[in-house]
Amino acid sequence: MNQPKINYQKELERQLEQIKADGRVPKLLLHSCCAPCSSYVLEYLSEYFEITVLYYNPNIYPESEYRKRVIEQQKFIGDTDSRHLISFIEGKYDTSRFYAMAKGLEEIREGGERCFKCYELRLRETAELAVRKGFDYFTTTLSISPMKNAQKLNEIGARLEKEYGVHYLFSDFKKKNGYKRSIELSGEYGLYRQDYCGCVFSMRE
Ligand code: SF4
Repeated sequence: MNQPKINYQKELERQLEQIKADGRVPKLLLHSCCAPCSSYVLEYLSEYFEITVLYYNPNIYPESEYRKRVIEQQKFIGDTDSRHLISFIEGKYDTSRFYAMAKGLEEIREGGERCFKCYELRLRETAELAVRKGFDYFTTTLSISPMKNAQKLNEIGARLEKEYGVHYLFSDFKKKNGYKRSIELSGEYGLYRQDYCGCVFSMRE
């Protein structure tokens, strides 16, 4: 029997209310896939957190596209106004890790098993770094995309929270017009919006 779907936006609101009630400004390590997806998420979460954006995306092909997205991400952070500090860390562009993970799953269409493993690769790196650097929470921008499976993303996040002992911030950022707002902000800031998810397989598709 299928599990009932959880409303992860509501879960996030519950977590944010608690943070506000405690009068805290915790440190959040936010994995970001690209500047347009991060735009709304940073606008929303920087009210509550001191955020460090982690750009860890060894899935992106080709390298010129990867560089373009990194530059755009840094530019957006520099241009945006926020209540609390936003910092930036670039992860390793270790593409061999991505291809080792995708081995045997190359022909699977976007949205399938390869993508779930790709979410985990990037979230795991975020959780590991969050522990190493003493962050209070970790999460990812990925749930803002209508192409991404928010249930899977949050299941992986909750599992990694237990494994690493660092809080995972639930999300379904596309809700409450989050996706629409990211398009508006991309227009306002003149952000480059790519037309494929990132890997060579999604590019071909
Ligand atoms: S389509 Fe996107 S999420 Fe899926 S494996 Fe490729 S880069 Fe990762």
